[in-house]
Amino acid sequence: MNFLFMLLPFLFTIGTPNPSGYDQYPVYTGPDLGLHYTPAASTFRIWSPPATTAQLLLYHSCNDSTAYKTIDMQKGPSGTWYIRLDGDQRGAWYNFRVNIDGHWNHAVPDPYAKAVGTNGQKALVFDPKSTDPAGWTKDKHPARHRPTDAIIYELHIRDASIDPSSGIKYKGRFLGLTEEDTHSPEGLSTGLSHLKEMGVTHIHLLPFFDYSSINESRPDSPQYNWGYDPLNYNAPEGSYSTDAGDGIKRIKELKQMIAAFHRNGLGVIMDVVYNHTSLTEASAFNQLVPGYYYRHTSDGRYSNATACGNETASQRPMMRKFMLESVLYWAKEYHIDGFRFDLMGVHDITTMNEIADALRQVNPGILLYGEGWTAGDSPLPDSLRALKKNVSRLHDIAVFGDELRDGIKGSVFDIHDKGFASGKIDAAESIKFGIAAACPHPQIAYDKVNYSKAPYAWSPDEVIAYCECHDNNTLWDKLALSYPNASEDTRKQMHMLALTIVLTSQGIPFLHAGTEFLRTKKGVENSYNSPDSINAIDWHRKHQYQDVVRYTKSLIHLRKTHPAFRMYTGAQIAEHLRFDQQTPAGVIAYTLNGAAMQDSWEKIWIAFNGSETAQQLQLPAGTWYTGLAMDGATGTHTDSIRLPAHNAVILYKASNNTGSIRSTSSRPR
Ligand code: CA
Repeated sequence: MNFLFMLLPFLFTIGTPNPSGYDQYPVYTGPDLGLHYTPAASTFRIWSPPATTAQLLLYHSCNDSTAYKTIDMQKGPSGTWYIRLDGDQRGAWYNFRVNIDGHWNHAVPDPYAKAVGTNGQKALVFDPKSTDPAGWTKDKHPARHRPTDAIIYELHIRDASIDPSSGIKYKGRFLGLTEEDTHSPEGLSTGLSHLKEMGVTHIHLLPFFDYSSINESRPDSPQYNWGYDPLNYNAPEGSYSTDAGDGIKRIKELKQMIAAFHRNGLGVIMDVVYNHTSLTEASAFNQLVPGYYYRHTSDGRYSNATACGNETASQRPMMRKFMLESVLYWAKEYHIDGFRFDLMGVHDITTMNEIADALRQVNPGILLYGEGWTAGDSPLPDSLRALKKNVSRLHDIAVFGDELRDGIKGSVFDIHDKGFASGKIDAAESIKFGIAAACPHPQIAYDKVNYSKAPYAWSPDEVIAYCECHDNNTLWDKLALSYPNASEDTRKQMHMLALTIVLTSQGIPFLHAGTEFLRTKKGVENSYNSPDSINAIDWHRKHQYQDVVRYTKSLIHLRKTHPAFRMYTGAQIAEHLRFDQQTPAGVIAYTLNGAAMQDSWEKIWIAFNGSETAQQLQLPAGTWYTGLAMDGATGTHTDSIRLPAHNAVILYKASNNTGSIRSTSSRPR
């Protein structure tokens, strides 16, 4: 996320923040914050050290503004407040309020609420067992991979199905992604079946925790948001369910969607946004423990490293505990296969490492990555935060490699800037930096790399290789904006070259949904609240650009078939990846030592021509077979090869000279 949200006006004021006072608050280490339900009794515990009184409020409906019962809570240990209600309380809606210095704060659901009603205004007493769809106990994570075996596909739940061309019944809902064998009007697969067809391994879903911006009481009115505006961290978003007022249904339908992905061999990555809250003064955090969960500037204002009006304070014990318990809950209860941390550079390294260690106890194959940057300055020193440059101090949490992203297509901050794929020949060193997954490599001139002037990773599983995500213009739009004179055919070449670079680079490749059919957001750069007409995936394009779809599938299949593209140590990259020394300007060529990686291809030679003209390139000695060419050509080459402008080719030598047979092995089934 690197955009500015419209900031809500501050509705409430709460006393002056007191950062040194927060350190005096007792820390509660128990596991029972929030609701604990059994048919015999429900217990509730919240943490609020400054409160002098705390109350539980019960409501008949999630839309009621008046409680039918208000119950004083008992003071518990370490700043907590506690109440036990005997009997089966299932179906009751509840909130809490605390009195601080004689003033009642607003009633809010607790931050730990796991089932909520319309617009997340009330929490629900529920039996967790009642949220499991049929067969949930048999739901399994897809087979574990090394992180570099993953191929991530980033998708917004609504975008996937909302367009009529999806042929999906439950448009814009969790259930839309449970439907199989759905088709576009042209008869091509859409939705879940399309994802399976592409061959990617993990679906990264934009936020699906309960976010604030969509009015869930008007599900059929035109509304849109990416969802980077957290309201209830531990409950699913209501606008993706078929009934936002039913606290159980949103949980059950989300689990149905996850089970459908798992049945089809796809892992699910959850996009989490612990770096800020959508509301500031009115947030549940601030209503229960004013100020504590946030960082402040020296003059007492909310610090704003997120550009969203506040930033959370992960370094404080109870915020750290909150984040840790929240991700563990999602991993265990929803069988999540990975997490993507929004603006991870806001969080401290200690917290991120505790999270990584605890998650791997639950699921050793879990995939973790995040944005190793912030959207503004933070009062917490850089050296303590989970920034890109500190990635080697994180416990196997990858960061997005923006060197490759902008090296390929040009800076996201300057629409006119071109990249290597669109003819900017001096971007070559940034591409090489990305090919080597930000790991040390003796042949890279680091002073010529766009952003980082030194390698920051020690292993390729620390870096996400990408050229496009939900932020900024799509790759297709960026090529058009930065190169308005290029023909559509030329831009298509550039686009395919860009995808080739991403899917052959070391590291963990990451694709933005629809890039395989040249997704457009019609030139809208920050589409976080743009209508469906901008954001929806237009499945007609799958037919229109089926050559690009076919080629992207070939690239994915190539990567999955050949371990040389998936090295897993920095030493392997330094040793088994060799750049050609004598290449024309605008050309990058390199050889992978396949034999050293147990690849069926003994050597693999990859060449990218980012320049405006065709180039005759010298081949390393021997006979080379075509593994994959953008124009679909096959055949053998010796001495040299002609590579057209904005083009890529992958050649190989087979270990036993059976190349002509194996030349079909990189075709998808
Ligand atoms: Ca919501």
